[in-house]
Amino acid sequence: MDLGIRGRWALVCAASRGLGRGCAAALVREGANVVVTARGVEALQLAAAQLQALRPGAKVVPVAGDITSPAGREAALAACPQVDILVTNAGGPPPGDFRDWDRADWLRAVDANMLAPIELMKATVDGMAERGFGRVVNITSGAVKAPMDVLGLSNGARSGLTGFVAGLARQRRLAARNVTINNLLPGSFDTDRLRATMEASARAAGQPFETVWESRRRQAPAERFGHPDEFGAACAFLCSAHAGYITGQNWLIDGGAYPGTF
Ligand code: NAP
Repeated sequence: MDLGIRGRWALVCAASRGLGRGCAAALVREGANVVVTARGVEALQLAAAQLQALRPGAKVVPVAGDITSPAGREAALAACPQVDILVTNAGGPPPGDFRDWDRADWLRAVDANMLAPIELMKATVDGMAERGFGRVVNITSGAVKAPMDVLGLSNGARSGLTGFVAGLARQRRLAARNVTINNLLPGSFDTDRLRATMEASARAAGQPFETVWESRRRQAPAERFGHPDEFGAACAFLCSAHAGYITGQNWLIDGGAYPGTF
């Protein structure tokens, strides 16, 4: 299927590794031009070169910076001639116990996983509506649907974003102008973040990493972790010309791990 986004400009945040990179790769394969961001310059430049190799005709522009800061967002937006597609993403907050978190911890999580995506949408969706095409995908977490105790900062901040998006996506000045806004909720995907989280769990439980990894792998009916390319393919479809009637949705991609009917 031709997704109908050749030549569109996409801003994909936090995309030198993992899920953001999977999304950028799928969009580049479809012929979109991408601006990709991350804080680490070297890894970002390497990722940009590898993305470019997927489709030499596409434009791939790396912009180093912290997407949770106003300066990082300004630089990323300035590098994109126009934003037709916006994929918001940033690192997840650390696990822990809410008794140990203070106001500064909460503000960091809310800044990164709620306010940064909202600021990026604020900067882009009205332009999308004027041009009659826009796709926003926010990378959130399966924890929005099935909260995990130790990820309280993530559960809280991302639920705030989810509630906000539910209202924004239904604004007629956006939905009636072919601007869609959806959230993608990853379950367990084989990325550096997953490995780091599981190393911490293994240390806390006094178990070998492999034991924790294997037990988690078997939790989903699919009996495996997701691959970032699978996540990217779902993202690219939501960003496609064919997905104009899908908005305000929360797509869980978790190999069947969530046990509910809805
Ligand atoms: P990852 O493998 O650690 O990759 C994170 C990417 O984001 C890297 O490119 C990183 O590069 C960049 N990044 C992090 N913070 C940034 C910032 N402030 N500004 C710009 N770039 C930033 O993580 P992932 O597994 O792809 O996870 C992506 C998001 O999905 C996270 O919020 C995570 O919590 C969430 N999630 C992941 C899973 C999973 O199974 N993987 C499940 C649920 C939710 P730099 O470090 O160089 O900036």
